[in-house]
Amino acid sequence: MREHDRLFIGGEWTAPAGTGTIEVLSPHTEEVVGRVPDGTPADIDAAVAAARRAFDHGPWPHMSPAERAEILGRLSALYAERQQSMADLVTEEMGSPIMFSIFGQAAIPQMVLQYYVDLAATFTWEEERPGMLGPVTVTREPVGVVAAIYPWNVPQFTLMLKLAPALIAGCTVVAKPSPEAPLDAYLLAEWIQEAGLPEGVVNIVPAGRETGAYLVEHPDIDKVAFTGSTAAGRAIGAACGARLRPVTLELGGKSAAIILEDADLAATIEGFKLASLMNNGEACAAQTRILAPRSRYEEVADALAAMVSGLNVGDPADYGTEIGPLVARRQQERVENYIRIGQDEGAKLITGGLDRPLDRGWYVKPTVFGDVRNDMRIAREEIFGPVLALLPYEDEEDAIAIANDSEYGLGGSVWTADVDHGVEVARRIRTGSCGVNLYTLDPNTPFGGYKNSGVGRELGPEGLLPYLEHKSIPRPAQA
Ligand code: NAD
Repeated sequence: MREHDRLFIGGEWTAPAGTGTIEVLSPHTEEVVGRVPDGTPADIDAAVAAARRAFDHGPWPHMSPAERAEILGRLSALYAERQQSMADLVTEEMGSPIMFSIFGQAAIPQMVLQYYVDLAATFTWEEERPGMLGPVTVTREPVGVVAAIYPWNVPQFTLMLKLAPALIAGCTVVAKPSPEAPLDAYLLAEWIQEAGLPEGVVNIVPAGRETGAYLVEHPDIDKVAFTGSTAAGRAIGAACGARLRPVTLELGGKSAAIILEDADLAATIEGFKLASLMNNGEACAAQTRILAPRSRYEEVADALAAMVSGLNVGDPADYGTEIGPLVARRQQERVENYIRIGQDEGAKLITGGLDRPLDRGWYVKPTVFGDVRNDMRIAREEIFGPVLALLPYEDEEDAIAIANDSEYGLGGSVWTADVDHGVEVARRIRTGSCGVNLYTLDPNTPFGGYKNSGVGRELGPEGLLPYLEHKSIPRPAQA
């Protein structure tokens, strides 16, 4: 049991203003595994004031990028040594299978941090350009105090996508973890203290959505970075629009995997274990619409059903587990409701369904629907669980049209024996990323969404730009 009765504000463990608590339940046992304060607007005021002081009067924004990289490099080294404890903790709080967790919930966040530490040495922070009347210095300055709001499904990853570039840029941060998965942020806070970041540079207040909305609207925030649902993203984008406050939005998805006629089916179906079902299907970029050529439809349906029905479902802490429990009862019921919707819409249940695989814990049977039409709700709406929709297509043009017929535009993939042709097809998919014969994210390449999947990009040098203001300093030519 992990009990925390303080908040990490101003570099200290501070008593919360209110008395409310958030109980963290194990998705596997349904028992309480942790307790943290439920942050209130008064806590947000204290956290924003600490971040403001650290930005306006502290050393952090005035250090050179190399000095900041040295301190963040210490954090990265601590993180690298202790990633297993982070993976175990995230698995305990939100049910990610440990084999995914080691990689996706701990190793990748650390790699993202290290990427921005390294980028500090090569990024162009300042340059001289010739102007009409003389030289101009173009400099890039930190944007200020950042609000980082992120979800429970990949908490360290979605936090680090914001924290690492914000910090290397010289910003200070108020982070708001979700009520479902706030424990990992406490572990990170301990490492942040140990690494010696100046006080107030990072502040953490776990809380629900009302307190999150209060943070977004706080007058002393300079930039908002959000990952979460499209509905919340719209509300946050509107609040930021009213205040002309820069905002990055990483939102939902309904990504398509296009299997071309010539694809190696065994390798493709194996690839879907990660591309479509990573993290119990609780992944924004999961490829949950599988597009199969009509000529190979039955073959694909059989192979997909065999793979999905053979997945090991169980305790996420077991190394053999491939699908763990969903984060909460609410999420289990939501996913089950989509299974009902799929049946009511006339899709064919190929495997899975509504029988719960275990009596205890928020498990859902991995499920595949066949004969899905792209106008069905199970093809249009984000389910966020291990439920796949298999859609037949007539020819390649039809496949591209179906993939693009979505309100979302986050990820996607093309599976083919001809990689060059796969790249040509990927170019025509209106999404922020589209893999060929795999789906992955890289620390040094941009990630984000078209359409309702978001605004802006994280990762890569592109992911640093939202934390910088560009300033031009022109002056007369010297004789
Ligand atoms: P959510 O939008 O309900 O909550 C996300 C976070 O925002 C939580 O911390 C929540 O407390 C807070 N929040 C909610 N409404 C808010 C508001 N109006 N103002 C301020 N804060 C608010 O999302 P969720 O259900 O926790 O997470 C799942 C969603 O996240 C899915 O839609 C998924 O696709 C998306 N996601 C996107 C990415 C990406 O990079 N595009 C990555 C992971 C998850």
